[in-house]
Amino acid sequence: MAAFSSACFIYPDDGEGSRFDRMFPPLGLELVAASVRDVIPQRSLIDMRFDRAWEAQLAPDTDIVALSFLWDMPLPKVFAMVRAIKRRCQGITVVAGGRFAEANRKALVTAAGDERIELVFSGPDDGRFRTFVETGSAERVAGVSFVKDGAYHATPMPPYGPIPDYPLPDRSLRRARYGAIRRDGFFLGIYTDAIQSSRGCPFHCAFCTFNKDSEGRQIAYTARSAESVADELEQIDAPFVTFVDDLAFHRPDRMEELCDALLERGIKKTYAIETRINMGMRPEVVEKMARAGFRYVTFGIESMHDHVLEFLNKALTRRTIEKAFAKIRHVPMFFVSNFIIGSVGETREQMLQIPDFARAIGLDSIMIHPLRCRGPEPLTAKVLATPGYHIDPESKRVYSDALSAAEIQGIARQIKREFWTPQQTLKSAIKFHRLIKPNLVTLASNWAAWKLRGQPRPWEVQQAPGASARQAREPAGLAA
Ligand code: SF4
Repeated sequence: MAAFSSACFIYPDDGEGSRFDRMFPPLGLELVAASVRDVIPQRSLIDMRFDRAWEAQLAPDTDIVALSFLWDMPLPKVFAMVRAIKRRCQGITVVAGGRFAEANRKALVTAAGDERIELVFSGPDDGRFRTFVETGSAERVAGVSFVKDGAYHATPMPPYGPIPDYPLPDRSLRRARYGAIRRDGFFLGIYTDAIQSSRGCPFHCAFCTFNKDSEGRQIAYTARSAESVADELEQIDAPFVTFVDDLAFHRPDRMEELCDALLERGIKKTYAIETRINMGMRPEVVEKMARAGFRYVTFGIESMHDHVLEFLNKALTRRTIEKAFAKIRHVPMFFVSNFIIGSVGETREQMLQIPDFARAIGLDSIMIHPLRCRGPEPLTAKVLATPGYHIDPESKRVYSDALSAAEIQGIARQIKREFWTPQQTLKSAIKFHRLIKPNLVTLASNWAAWKLRGQPRPWEVQQAPGASARQAREPAGLAA
């Protein structure tokens, strides 16, 4: 018999997510919830991005709450949330996981009693929550932090193992419908879902903080079987699904196998992935991907200057990028790339070559990021060792004696202006509409509602007091 009988899985609203962060359901929590489906009779899920009156959704007889902290959040806000949970559910056990919880595990488990998180899990769950639920004993779980007899303990964390094929995330607990909803409340008319088909990355980009665990060990690349990914996609209702893998195309043969499974089973959706430009080296697989529904691809090219690519340790050259794009730019896919500016040795003139280069290779959209060193990635030491280069302690942005952080920000704006000419905007809009097919009627009615409502400040709609039950269940763009 399990040590708990009623569990609630809570996804907090960090308030600082990306422009479209309501595209992404709390997949990690849904996986954890699925792992205890047969041992905890009563389970519920609260997504605070939608559930404004979340305390009313938390059943008073809940005896365990699992929180997922993927993104930074002020600790006082976390403590206030835990106090509210403990006020509502007497004697409850609160556990947490996710990058932010891992980074602050000691502070969270040693906080005062009414704001203490009893157990913090480091790394992916992989069945450990179930072990805790079945035994009620923290000592028997690997990679957790807790306090016992007044002393802080942390059990050793093993390296990440292979990503499991099953269970699939429990989507039945959802109370919100996820979609491409901008933070200002404007809904693009596309309902979305997400899937994780692999984890880890074998590359060593100098700026990357995603490829290592909290002990600094490289997370080995492992992938789920094509069959299990197709099984999950078959269960998803939303027409647009984002693969949240760091590197969705690392194994071309597996990608081809997945496309074959999707085509054979007749699973028709539009997929977005993020991957490296080496995808262009297997154009026949890329063409099959387009037939299977892969239509939105984001690359991390970062730069077209070999000295910058070397500085960033991208294991790429300009020639490779150009050759790869030449093989795939005819494929019906919307191509986006990230670029990093402000690297050591990169001049203003070199940064301003991005718009021409991006158009020449066939990109449909670009994202420009001033270089940041969040530490402890290897880049921080490299930047600090270069005379004349500095890291802003607050924003973590890199700047130099020659170019201030504000000037680099200005260059980023100029690059975007020069890329988004009227012709480029029209060309990309037509292609986006042709490939992604947003619902134009929904788009128009939501645009009208959004305009009539005025331009709300970010999150204003969701934070409105007294939100109705319907508002809690529908995207804000529809609830207006
Ligand atoms: S390829 Fe992507 S995930 Fe891998 S190290 Fe580079 S930036 Fe990180």
